[in-house]
Amino acid sequence: MTKFWLFSIAMFSICLNQVNNPSPKLSLNDVCTDYNSLNTKVRDGLISKKEALKRIQELMPLIRKYYYEHGGRDYPKTTCTFPLQNYDHKAIGGTKGEGYFASGYDFFDGNKHGGHPAHDIFINDKNQDCLDDKTKKPVNVLSMTDGIVVAAASSWDTSSNLRGGKYIYIYQPSTNSFFYYAHNSEILVHLCDIVKPGQVIAQVGRSGLNAYKKRSPTHLHFMQLKLDSLGYPRPFNPYKDLLTTISK
Ligand SMILES: [Zn+2]
Repeated sequence: MTKFWLFSIAMFSICLNQVNNPSPKLSLNDVCTDYNSLNTKVRDGLISKKEALKRIQELMPLIRKYYYEHGGRDYPKTTCTFPLQNYDHKAIGGTKGEGYFASGYDFFDGNKHGGHPAHDIFINDKNQDCLDDKTKKPVNVLSMTDGIVVAAASSWDTSSNLRGGKYIYIYQPSTNSFFYYAHNSEILVHLCDIVKPGQVIAQVGRSGLNAYKKRSPTHLHFMQLKLDSLGYPRPFNPYKDLLTTISK
């Protein structure tokens, strides 16, 4: 009897322990790597919405802690910078920002999401070589806000069906928002980098399933997601804020 019961009690304890501690131990140093892995799973449809939301709830307080402990600070709104160097709001697609529609979008649908809760910001690039037609140089993507790089993909090739291509997510603690910069040609920041408003983070490109196609003029896809009280990333239209940014 004793061996069997001791074994049973031991197994029961292990199971109970796993129920109480279902997530791996979180370390402050790895928070961005952890978030990036989560973001990749969401992107690729490899995690349930419920589990992903739970992980966001666990990770975001740690990311905020990391940010302020590593020199991150909240800049005033007047420092917000237009995301393309040498361009301004006139480069935003559609009349008065009408290219933005949030209906049908759910962050947790990943690469298969509907809607377009974003603004496409176009550069002058008739021959689609990713160089500005006037300057013959790449166009810098600037961080609109302060924040921390929590997810990024620095490689993409034409066989990939990823829509964002080479992308960056920057989390801004003061607005509890993610800022997403997609279709870049080069990513110039790393995970966990703390950035300031106006900092160069990438170069405009044509990476991504549809952005690569000839029918698509070269542009930056720019999206803001605000986390609600449960940590659910919801689309937020940054059009008005883009209009009051400073141009560099
Ligand atoms: Zn777009």
